[in-house]
Amino acid sequence: MNAPTVILRACASYDVARVRGIVGDALVRLGLRPTGRTLVKPNCVASGPKFPHAHTRPEFLEGVLLALRDHATPELSEIAVGERCGITIPTRYAFTGAGYYPMFARAGVDKVYHFDEVPQVEIPLYHPERLRDSLYTPEPVARADFFVNCPKFKAHPWTTVTFSMKNYIGIQDDRHRLIDHDHMLDRKVADLQYIIQPQLVAIDAIIAGEGRMLTPLPFDLGLVVLGDNQVAVDAVCCMIIGIDPRSVAHIRLAWERGFGPVDLSAIRVEGDVSLDEAKARARGFRSGLVKVDEYFANTSIRAYGGPPPGGTVDYCWGGCPGALEEAIEILRLFDPGTDRKLPPVHIVFGRHEGPIPAKDGETVIFMGDCATWKGTLGGAPVEVADRYVDRSHKDPLEARAEDIFVKMLRTKRAMAGKAKIVQLGGCPVSVAEQVLALVELGHLENPYLDPSEATRFMSCYLQWRTRQAVNRVMGRPYNVPGPSQRGAARPAQNLPPEPGAAS
Ligand code: SF4
Repeated sequence: MNAPTVILRACASYDVARVRGIVGDALVRLGLRPTGRTLVKPNCVASGPKFPHAHTRPEFLEGVLLALRDHATPELSEIAVGERCGITIPTRYAFTGAGYYPMFARAGVDKVYHFDEVPQVEIPLYHPERLRDSLYTPEPVARADFFVNCPKFKAHPWTTVTFSMKNYIGIQDDRHRLIDHDHMLDRKVADLQYIIQPQLVAIDAIIAGEGRMLTPLPFDLGLVVLGDNQVAVDAVCCMIIGIDPRSVAHIRLAWERGFGPVDLSAIRVEGDVSLDEAKARARGFRSGLVKVDEYFANTSIRAYGGPPPGGTVDYCWGGCPGALEEAIEILRLFDPGTDRKLPPVHIVFGRHEGPIPAKDGETVIFMGDCATWKGTLGGAPVEVADRYVDRSHKDPLEARAEDIFVKMLRTKRAMAGKAKIVQLGGCPVSVAEQVLALVELGHLENPYLDPSEATRFMSCYLQWRTRQAVNRVMGRPYNVPGPSQRGAARPAQNLPPEPGAAS
């Protein structure tokens, strides 16, 4: 069997023709021809003027789409783009902000799938290490014949990096995405790999995103990274920024489960940029993974990152603490005076056993269902009990996702009044809710009501809700039971070789 191939190509700017040529070359080199239902999945987690480096750029995506058309078989039935952006906001809003729709018209895209508006199909899992017996994914993903993963090269506060595999968090809608989005996030991402494997990966690393994922700093890498195996692609991306791929849990797990190699000896690296040159370009790139206590040192926020339930890990890397880091950066974007305006506040995650040195009048927030503490505040004894619900009791069919306006009201109510001890429930408490909590605390501008974005946001929001209502009226089931519930065989979609084949 041929070794997986990773291709590193130089691309100094967002030149559509150049990207089209690079992707076309890769398709020929890898012997790939788009066919049937071809689906491209970008990373469009956030967009718009405040988030210019969070998403796969439209020029890049346009080059990919044109190249796919150039090299398609006669059996191609559609070239589509699908994505679920960051939760709570409509994908339509993210696509508008990214400038995707005019580009879709230019590139002749046949279908656009907003994954928050289509049926979700059950995919059964059978591997022994699975977190649950099935996952739900949007129908266009489950039915794709030729799948192209088209992420952005970025750092990530929860998972160190987000390259190819982590982009799969966007193949679930809100209600399913939030399940296991906690200290098991890396295992969740590894489980998502069983839904589908891409024939082609094409990563926008022309301007990479450093430090964070929603509000990353631009880092000029001038690269396009392509390949036919996403473990190999992600491993090489790790090497480019100087980290061991095995140190990134979801990459290590996928490798251990046979999805692809992480050793250079098992990967063919090609292209007009050598790995050494790519490493030189990436020198100084900062990845994610900074604990919340450290992240907020020397600010008005004093954070306490205690262990989550289960006793297996000492920190919840995939949940509430990282969301606070993203939340503060969003607020800083919208108001540079955020840190000055925020009063001193103590924010507790997980099981905290030390003191909380809150002075009179300072607020203490217990963030997330698993936050617990026993001690004295303002001279009075305080005991915060665990409200955590074990994942075995969470049923994807019963999962709910709250509307952003409901979140606003709920958070406002929780933060209102003179109460200085606040419990914000959820597992996880999302970035949006933590933004809203800080807005209330510091009387800050609410980014969701930013006047420059309000009209566009409301227009997309209403279209989104209308489409969901139409689906309900038309009797289109939201969750479609899959083969596991019908007793059929496992769908075979480029799944890994049998266990033991890991290199
Ligand atoms: S409540 Fe938050 S910190 Fe606790 S396990 Fe869930 S996601 Fe992690």
